Amino acid sequence: MHNDVEKILFSEEELKKICQRLGKQITKAFEGQKVLVVGVLKGSFIFLGDLVKNIDGDLNIDFIDASSYYNGTQTTSHVTISKDLSIDPDGKCVLIVEDIVDSGNTANFLVDYMKAKNAKDVKFCTLFDKPKRRQVAFTPDYIGASVDDNFIVGYGLDYAENYRHLPYIGILKESVYL
Ligand code: 5GP
Ligand code: MG
Repeated sequence: MHNDVEKILFSEEELKKICQRLGKQITKAFEGQKVLVVGVLKGSFIFLGDLVKNIDGDLNIDFIDASSYYNGTQTTSHVTISKDLSIDPDGKCVLIVEDIVDSGNTANFLVDYMKAKNAKDVKFCTLFDKPKRRQVAFTPDYIGASVDDNFIVGYGLDYAENYRHLPYIGILKESVYL
């Protein structure tokens, strides 16, 4: 385990099981339809890779970089896009794939954004949900697991761009950011 990690919250094996369950649910929900999977950079990159391997069907994959986060642990309601889609969502079934829904600002913004671009249908899948932290109402369609209000890293999730490569999800030691 990495020195800056207090505790492992989800092991590689548990994350694998989550991806298998979500992949099955999504396969069933979108049966017979082509899906444009949109990963939200950078946090979703490992999750998206593992998730799509468990989806049986026709997919296109794209990424968007949108966040309400600065380089710290505090959220803001202002969402910016720093890398836009390269595939036009017009008329498509879009599945947004996010690492974690916190205030709900990024998620709400992205769903509205896809609708404004005339997506036929927009669904939202998040690996983790922090429902107690919402500032705006938002309910993801697919959730890997709900978590308490700890700052977590690994499996794509960072703190100041570090720890994304860890194969598990860990709670960061407070001493790292205090
Ligand atoms: P929201 O707009 O819902 O407040 O922001 C969600 C984003 O905040 C996530 O995509 C993620 O980048 C970041 N975030 C929220 N909670 C955590 C956390 O516990 N750990 C990490 N690494 N990022 C988080
Ligand atoms: Mg994110």
